[in-house]
Amino acid sequence: MAGKKSTKKNRSRKYLFVTGGVMSGIGKGVAASSIGAILEARGLKVTAIKIDPYINVDAGTMNPTEHGEVFVLDDGYETDQDMGNYERFLNVTLPSINYMTTGVVYQEVIRRERNLEYKGKNVQVVPDIPLEIIRRIETAAETANADVTIIEVGGTVGEYENILFIEALRMMKTKMPEDVFTVMVSYLPVPGHLGEMKTKPTQHASRTLNSVGVQADIIIARGEVALDQKRKEKIAIFCNVQPKHVISAPDANIYDVPLNFVRDELDDSLCELMGLKCNPKADLSEWKRFVTKSKNTKGEVKIAVVGKYFKSGDFLLSDVYISVLEAIKFSAYKLGVKPVIEYVSSRDFEKGGADLSFFKKFDGVLVPGGFGTTGIEGKIRVIEYVRKHKIPYFGICYGMQLAAVEFARNVAKMKDASTAEITPKAHERNIIDVMLDQKEKLEQGDYGGTMRLGAYPAKLKKGTHAIKAYGSEKISERHRHRYEVNPEFIPLLEEAGMIFSGTSPDGRLMEIAELPKKMHPFFVGVQFHPEFLARPLDPHPLFTAFIKAAKDKK
Ligand code: GLN
Repeated sequence: MAGKKSTKKNRSRKYLFVTGGVMSGIGKGVAASSIGAILEARGLKVTAIKIDPYINVDAGTMNPTEHGEVFVLDDGYETDQDMGNYERFLNVTLPSINYMTTGVVYQEVIRRERNLEYKGKNVQVVPDIPLEIIRRIETAAETANADVTIIEVGGTVGEYENILFIEALRMMKTKMPEDVFTVMVSYLPVPGHLGEMKTKPTQHASRTLNSVGVQADIIIARGEVALDQKRKEKIAIFCNVQPKHVISAPDANIYDVPLNFVRDELDDSLCELMGLKCNPKADLSEWKRFVTKSKNTKGEVKIAVVGKYFKSGDFLLSDVYISVLEAIKFSAYKLGVKPVIEYVSSRDFEKGGADLSFFKKFDGVLVPGGFGTTGIEGKIRVIEYVRKHKIPYFGICYGMQLAAVEFARNVAKMKDASTAEITPKAHERNIIDVMLDQKEKLEQGDYGGTMRLGAYPAKLKKGTHAIKAYGSEKISERHRHRYEVNPEFIPLLEEAGMIFSGTSPDGRLMEIAELPKKMHPFFVGVQFHPEFLARPLDPHPLFTAFIKAAKDKK
């Protein structure tokens, strides 16, 4: 492509919708990301869009135990964790136009209606909502100058919730039959009492899709085990697709999926189906190197992730901190060790709870971001323990703020130090206070999308863990918070030995807090969320420094 003029006219953009059949939670996001990765490996420019059908305007207002992690983009939009998968698999930075919910689509249509932009016409659910969806999809494609735009439609076909998005797909396909294609990621159960893989739910899902005017071009058959030839042919016949377009996708390590897809020649099928000019062979060599490294580790590091969103009823949720977990893995693989991650609920370590010596067995402890008051004293007690026992510590956002509170209480001897998130009226002892511009928003109950969000630059101090890790004085990281280190208490914390090794460029906002080597081998807290920038092929330097400290402790 280089050197050749590629104008909008002589080049048609391709759109690949990824829909779900039978049930949710079967790895549609990973399938969509992996398709992106293998098309990229054929030399194509790929972007990816995630559609979440709920009314929330963004994912920021949802409880993580309901919805999983809130993934923050560079431009500050609070999105679904699938956006993290896209950024990690495609190694790209995605803008907010690549994420949409029913709420944001309606909000825009209603805004335009109020501004008379529909020029007095009757504004209708169909076609005006699908038209806005299509406008967003096309804008995202153009913004990325993409050859292929992958659009993952959340939920499962046949739901009321996502029907207008499927209608947008139908309308686009009718207008551009050569450029719009559909993948259905379906599930093939193997009921225990039968011990046989059943294709019927997938046949029904395919018919449900047909009933709204859409025919799948490719069916990805997810299951615990691989699909056999007989069932492949059955699905092909009953779902109107070619047998080679039925792809077996048994349970696998997520980073193996692109390699499995190429082995099944899905990249060839897609290039041929969409009529794309691309490199004759997929180049996944870097990806392969990463996967090989991940499987050939020597020794392990035991890391505790101490959070409070793990439990939902009787189930343990690790999706809430998915980017943190992936970031730990990438850095561990880079250093050639196997990460053994244990999720620990901070609530178990409140006063009178479990014995803190439980943490002795870990090589590193990480306290990720969080909100509210539950489990907070437990986190502070854990931080005190790991600081005193010199276990490498990495605190993210709330994990940094609470490290400052702990340090103020137990080292700077300000016994009642607190954060305004817990004690909003105790200004005189709030080491962590609400940011000035956030006060008004909280008073007015203006919660949606109003935190300090997205990428901000910071500068680093010489001779610190931070600058050593990054190898550069200037950094940019993504944020999501309302509270900050209260500037009034900086001298107190510094006199007691805490170093603010990263600040906003104007020096006003504390971005990184750490302890000097003479106090602790590795004790670092960051106000931002480094996990959002960690990539398999480009692990995050601070995570790598933390895992290295954990490895050295062994
Ligand atoms: N609750 C804290 C704040 O709003 C920390 C946020 C976070 O951990 N993401 O500042």
